[in-house]
Amino acid sequence: MAYDFDLYVIGAGSGGVRAARFAAGFGAKVAVAESRYLGGTCVNVGCVPKKLLVYGAHFAEDFEQASGFGWSLGEANFDWPTLIANKDREINRLNGIYRNLLVNSGVTLHEGHARLVDPHQVEINGERFTARHILIATGGWPQIPDIPGREHAIGSNEAFFLKALPKRVLVVGGGYIAVEFAGIFHGLGAQTSLLYRGDLFLRGFDGSVRTHLKEELTKRGLDLQFNADIERIEKQADGSLKATLKDGRVLEADCVFYATGRRPMLDNLGLENTSVKLDERGFVQVNDQYETTEASILAIGDVIGRVQLTPVALAEGMAVARRLFKPEHYRPVDYAMIPTAVFSLPNIGTVGLTEEEAKKNGHRVQIFESRFRPMKLTLTECQEKTLMKLVVDADTDKVLGCHMVGPDAGEIVQGLAIALKAGATKQHFDETIGVHPTAAEEFVTMRTPVSD
Ligand code: FAD
Ligand code: NDP
Repeated sequence: MAYDFDLYVIGAGSGGVRAARFAAGFGAKVAVAESRYLGGTCVNVGCVPKKLLVYGAHFAEDFEQASGFGWSLGEANFDWPTLIANKDREINRLNGIYRNLLVNSGVTLHEGHARLVDPHQVEINGERFTARHILIATGGWPQIPDIPGREHAIGSNEAFFLKALPKRVLVVGGGYIAVEFAGIFHGLGAQTSLLYRGDLFLRGFDGSVRTHLKEELTKRGLDLQFNADIERIEKQADGSLKATLKDGRVLEADCVFYATGRRPMLDNLGLENTSVKLDERGFVQVNDQYETTEASILAIGDVIGRVQLTPVALAEGMAVARRLFKPEHYRPVDYAMIPTAVFSLPNIGTVGLTEEEAKKNGHRVQIFESRFRPMKLTLTECQEKTLMKLVVDADTDKVLGCHMVGPDAGEIVQGLAIALKAGATKQHFDETIGVHPTAAEEFVTMRTPVSD
């Protein structure tokens, strides 16, 4: 049968654009459908605008510390609408770049909501197109628990477009987004509380990292409330919000921001017209080759709920394009040693096993840990400390994990990830000459393991 396209991609986000462009580059006839914004979550309501807001928030401490270096500044004033307008301008520019990338690589762009009609057919804007392969790359969507007053809360999608910076914010959740946005709101001057339902936020991160960040955020005056769970939210006559916690406490705020995870975006996708199955968590079920339970349909990125990070969606998109249209270049995605950063203030950077995971996996571990005041702060009043930690296998000397809390942790950990991927041992780290004076050199100068 002749199809309209070799590959029809639903969703022009990180994974979809990568798969579409590379498939077209390999000679396939490709279309991509996008219902909202080119570039998807990362470009429009994720990584990129988030990082711009984090930069914005960081200025507060830069101004504070500048006097130690002899600078005297007038009173600093922050204007939220300016930051948001400039952010929007940059995102518009990126949207244009994504459009050009697609069009210049020969991909047909359909702007609208795409729906599966059958295993080889998609409907969009009243037209139907057939394709040999269909790729679901529809991403995710913020998930807010169904509590009374949920309609008064916002999620990350709305946070990027608030008209004004709220005076008092409650951030709910203890994952990446909650920690990052708590830092943004606090840094920009909002009175911010972070409410997490468990004992300590960032479950799954290394224990030292979690404790260290808790201490640093507390030093900065961010109100951290653990074992705190909202039961209901009510709007008051003056427009402010009243959040009643399960333990009976009542907190008042102007904005309640939920960052309690993301669900797969499958709304009105027409999965019922196919035999695509979902896994027990509700994400699209795929095998190692990203094939769903419907032979002609594949899925990648956040919608499969494996690792919800842009570089992972990109790698999956690339793997699908290669396997379908350039099989001789196909390499499976390696999910081991994925480095990641949390752009909290200060940042977290991490790669490999946490101490807890390493022990659970049966490794006999040696831990190297260093806490120090960054050089830049020695001329200031700021008492912030950086944490660096290595988890080493005591038997093989292999470095199993590197963890950091401190300025530019994400930048530093990217290079370490290459070393760990290449199988570096602690001896390799020890024999590596440091770059002086940097914070990063501490990773190659830690000599004495901490006692158990
Ligand atoms: P998406 O990028 O979400 O793209 C899916 C696209 O499909 C969207 O454009 C959507 O409009 C479109 N779509 C959905 N349904 C349809 C349909 N039926 N028809 C047509 N189009 C449709 N990751 C990092 O690595 N680093 C970070 O710093 C980072 N920060 C983040 C901050 C926030 C606030 C959030 C929410 C996420 C962040 N992420 C970060 C995660 C990252 O954004 C995602 O992992 C990544 O965007 C997933 O890519 P994707 O291609 O799977 O989906
Ligand atoms: P996460 O899964 O990281 O965190 C969700 C948080 O919400 C957890 O602390 C969880 O608690 C808590 N939670 C879940 N359900 C409830 C509930 N019903 N009531 C109260 N708390 C609840 O999700 P995020 O929304 O922060 O981010 C989604 C994903 O996006 C991330 O996992 C990450 O993959 C990606 N991302 C990456 C970034 C980066 O690379 N810098 C930045 C932002 C997002 P518990 O731990 O107890 O389950």
